[in-house]
Amino acid sequence: YSTASYAQDLIKPPVSVEYDKLLINGKFVEAASGKTFPTLDPRNGDVIAHVAEGDAEDINRAVAAARKAFDEGPWPKMTAYERCKIILRFADLVEKHNDEIAALETWDNGKPYEQSANIEIPMFVRLFRYYAGWADKIHGLTIQADGPHHVQTLHEPIGVAGQIIPWNFPLLMFAWKVGPALACGNTVVLKTAEQTPLSALLVAKLFHEAGLPDGVLNIVSGFGATAGAALASHMDVDKVAFTGSTETGKTILELAAKSNLKSVTLELGGKSPFIVCEDADVDKAVELAHFALFFNQGQCCCAGSRTFVHEKVYAEFVEKAKARALKRTVGDPFKAGMEQGPQIDEKQFSKILGYIKSGTEHGATLETGGARFGSKGYFIQPTVFSNVQDDMPIAKDEIFGPVQSILKYKDLGEVIKRANNSKYGLAAGVFTKNLDTANTLMRALRVGTVWINCFDTFDATIPFGGYKMSGIGREKGEYSLKNYLQVKAVVTPVINPAW
Ligand code: ADP
Repeated sequence: YSTASYAQDLIKPPVSVEYDKLLINGKFVEAASGKTFPTLDPRNGDVIAHVAEGDAEDINRAVAAARKAFDEGPWPKMTAYERCKIILRFADLVEKHNDEIAALETWDNGKPYEQSANIEIPMFVRLFRYYAGWADKIHGLTIQADGPHHVQTLHEPIGVAGQIIPWNFPLLMFAWKVGPALACGNTVVLKTAEQTPLSALLVAKLFHEAGLPDGVLNIVSGFGATAGAALASHMDVDKVAFTGSTETGKTILELAAKSNLKSVTLELGGKSPFIVCEDADVDKAVELAHFALFFNQGQCCCAGSRTFVHEKVYAEFVEKAKARALKRTVGDPFKAGMEQGPQIDEKQFSKILGYIKSGTEHGATLETGGARFGSKGYFIQPTVFSNVQDDMPIAKDEIFGPVQSILKYKDLGEVIKRANNSKYGLAAGVFTKNLDTANTLMRALRVGTVWINCFDTFDATIPFGGYKMSGIGREKGEYSLKNYLQVKAVVTPVINPAW
C-alpha cells in the first residue's frame, strides 16, 4: 500500500482535551456516579482522555433540564428569528474553530484530518445554517373544511428530543439530529457514542458561547445499555432519534413502545448495491465504486458494499479495482494525502478481519489486502474480493470496513432482483450513460437514496433514510422537520357563515 506519497505531518494531533465532563443545564459536570471511561486513539490504542460516564441518573438530570427549558422557556418561547440568529452565530463560531475541531474529531475517530477539516466540519456548518434558515419558515395551513368552521393547523415543537448517535461521523450525526430539533424549537438530550465522545462536547460549548440558553442542549457521554437505554425509555422524553445498527434500532423502538410511546426515527444499517452497467466507462466506474465502499474506512451505513458488475466489463473492472485498492494511501490520518486511517476500535477491527476470513472460506477470490496494515492501531489493508456470491456472509451482512465485494451479473432484470434481495434498503449507486437504464433502476430499487453516476452526495437539503430494515423516517432537508414537529388542528365555528 502506498505510503510514499506523503511525507510530512499535515497537522500535529492535539495534546490535551479541554472538555471531558457531561454538559447538563449549560454546565460541565461530573457523572452522578463519579465514574469515567477511557476514549482511545484508534491509531495506537492509547488513552486520549477519561470522560465522565453518564448513566440513568445523569439522563434523568439532563432530561429534567431539557424539560424545564422546554416547558418554561426560553427556547420554544423565543421568536423563531432569535433562535435562527443563535444557530447562525454557532455556525460562525464552528467555522472559526474549524481546524481545532477537525483535529479533535480525527484524534478520537481516526478519520483523515483532511476529510474532517475540508469536508465534514464545513458540512456541519452548512447543515446548521440550513436549519437556521428553516426556524422562521415553519408554519401550518388554513383548511377549507365542510361546514361553518375556520380550521387551521399549528406546527409545534414536540418537546424534549432524545438523540442517540454513532461513532462513524460524530459531528455530522450531531448536526443531522440537533440542527432540525433546535430549529423547530425543541430541547435536546444527546447521547454520544462511547467511542467518540469528545467533539460534541467542544461544539456544544461553542453553542453556549453563541447564546444558547442553559438546558436547551444537554450532552451525556456514556454507554448504550445504560445511558442510551435510559434515554429511549424515559417517560419525560417526547421523541427519540437514533442512528446505529439495525439490532439496536429494534431495541430503541421496543423501549419507546414499552415506556411512553414516544415517536421514533431510526437510521440503521445497509448493504447498498453499486451497479456498474455494461455501457460504463470502466475507469470512472472503478474510481466511484472504490470511493463508495472505502470512504471513511468503509464505516458508512450506506457504503456501496455489493459491487454488481456486468459480465461484459467484469474482468477489466476487477483488475482495475484491485489496482486502485493497492494505490490507496493508508496511514496516520494526521498526515497529508492520507485516504484511509484506522478503524474505530478493536471490536470493529476484529469483526472486519473475521468477515475477511469468512470470504476466503466461502470461496470468494481475495484479489488484494486481507490483513492488518502495520503493527499497531486498528488499520486494515484495503481489501477486494471478486467472485462473490449472493449467499456469502460478506455479500449479506454489513461489514463496516474496507472490504469490497464484487459480484458478476448478466442482465438488468437479474441485477434488480439481486440488488433488492436484502433486508436493508438504505441506498444504491448506479453507474451508466444510458438514460433508459438509469430510469429503470431508479424506480426499481427499493432504497431511500439512488445515486446515479455519483455517490455519498450528502447535501444538507437532500433527505436521507431507509426502506425496509434500514430505518424509519428521513433526515436532512425539509423532510427532517417532520420528525420534530407536532401538528395541532385548531377549529373554531364561524358565527355568521353567510358573511
Ligand atoms: P455499533 O455496534 O456500531 O456501536 P450501535 O447501534 O450499538 O452500533 O451504537 C450506536 C449508538 O447506540 C451508540 O451511541 C450506542 O451507545 C447506542 N446504543 C447501543 N446499545 C443501546 C441500547 N440498548 N439502548 C440505547 N442505545 C444504545
